[in-house]
Amino acid sequence: MTGTMTSDLPINLGPNQAHPNRGHGLRRDDGDNDGNSPVMTGKRPPAKNTKLPQLLRVITKTLTMKTVIVTGASSGIGQGIAIAFGELGANVIVNYHSDKKGATDTLKKIQEAGGQGYIHQADVSKESEAMELINKAIETYNGFDILINNAGIQMDNSFSKMTLDEWTGVIDTNLTGQFLCAREAIKHFEKKKQTDTCKGNIIFISSVHDLIPWAGHVNYASSKGGILMLMKSLALEVAPKKIRINAISPGAIATDINEEAWSDEKKKKELLKLIPYQRIGNVEDIGKAAVWLGSDDSDYVIGTTIYIDGGMTLYPGFVDNG
Ligand code: NAP
Repeated sequence: MTGTMTSDLPINLGPNQAHPNRGHGLRRDDGDNDGNSPVMTGKRPPAKNTKLPQLLRVITKTLTMKTVIVTGASSGIGQGIAIAFGELGANVIVNYHSDKKGATDTLKKIQEAGGQGYIHQADVSKESEAMELINKAIETYNGFDILINNAGIQMDNSFSKMTLDEWTGVIDTNLTGQFLCAREAIKHFEKKKQTDTCKGNIIFISSVHDLIPWAGHVNYASSKGGILMLMKSLALEVAPKKIRINAISPGAIATDINEEAWSDEKKKKELLKLIPYQRIGNVEDIGKAAVWLGSDDSDYVIGTTIYIDGGMTLYPGFVDNG
C-alpha cells in the first residue's frame, strides 16, 4: 500500500518588506538557522514580474505582499502551487512531512524566482503539529493571508480487505488534517483587522473524487467527499466575517510519483478515454488557478469548487450518446 503517495489517477495510476497592513513582519535571524527557519536577507527584491502580461501583473500586485502556507509542498501539486505563489512574490511557508529534500528544492525554486519563505516539517494530521505550523507562520510574518490545504495520501484496497489503519490513515491526513489547519487559520483570520478585501483565504485541494465514485479507493473518495461539505459549510459560516473559502478539485495530474502510469503508452491511452480534453494535466495547471483564487481578483468567489480536470467530471462515457 502506498504511504504519502497520491496519484489520484483512475486505473490505479497514482519579506523582508512587511505587509502594508501589518507593520514589520519577520523574526530576526538568530544565527542558528537550520534550513527550517526563515532568514532575514536584507531588503526584499521586487517580484520578477516586469515581462508578465497585464492580467498576471494585476494578480501579482495583489499577491506580492501576501503570506501563504502550502501543506504538502515537497512534491507534486503542492510544490507546483508553492512555486507559482513564490514566482508572483508571495512569502511561502513550504510544509512537508517526510521529504525534506523535496521541500528544500521547492524553497530554492521560490527563491530563484525572487520569492522567499521557509520550510516547515509537520504532520498535518497531528493537532499539535498543525497548530505549530500555523502559529510559527503567524509569529514569523506577523500573520498570514492564505492557506492552501493540499497534503493528501492514498492507501488503496478493495473494501472488504481495507484495514482500519488504511481507513483512518487516509481520513486523518486528507480530512482531519485539512480541518485542523483550517481551524487554526480561521482563529487567526477572525482576529485580523477589516480590510477592503478578505481577511483570509483558504483553498482546499480536493479531487474529482469528491464527485466521481472510485471503486477500490473508498477511503480516499470518502475523504474528498468530506472536504466538499467541510469547504461549503465553512464558507457559509465565515463569509460574513470576510473570510473566503473555496476548493480546487484536480483531475488526473502528472506528478513524479505517478510517472509510470502516464509514461506508459497503453495506460495513458486508457486514461485519456476519461479526459475529453485529451491531455493529462500538470502541476502548473493547478498552480495558475490557485494564484488567481488566492488573489484579490477572485474576491467575490465564495464556497466554490473549481474542477481542473480536462472535462473528466463531464461523464465522458456519454460522448457518443452513451
Ligand atoms: P504527492 O506528490 O504524493 O504529494 C503529497 C504531499 O502531501 C507531499 O508533499 C507529502 O509530504 C504531503 N503529505 C502527505 N502526508 C502528509 C502529512 N500527514 N502531513 C503533511 N504533509 C503530508 O501527491 P499529489 O498528487 O501532489 O497530491 C497533492 C494533493 O492533490 C492531494 O490532496 C491529492 O489528493 C490531490 N489530488 C491529486 C491528484 C493527482 O492526479 N495527482 C488529483 C486530484 C487530487 P512528504 O512527501 O514530505 O511526506
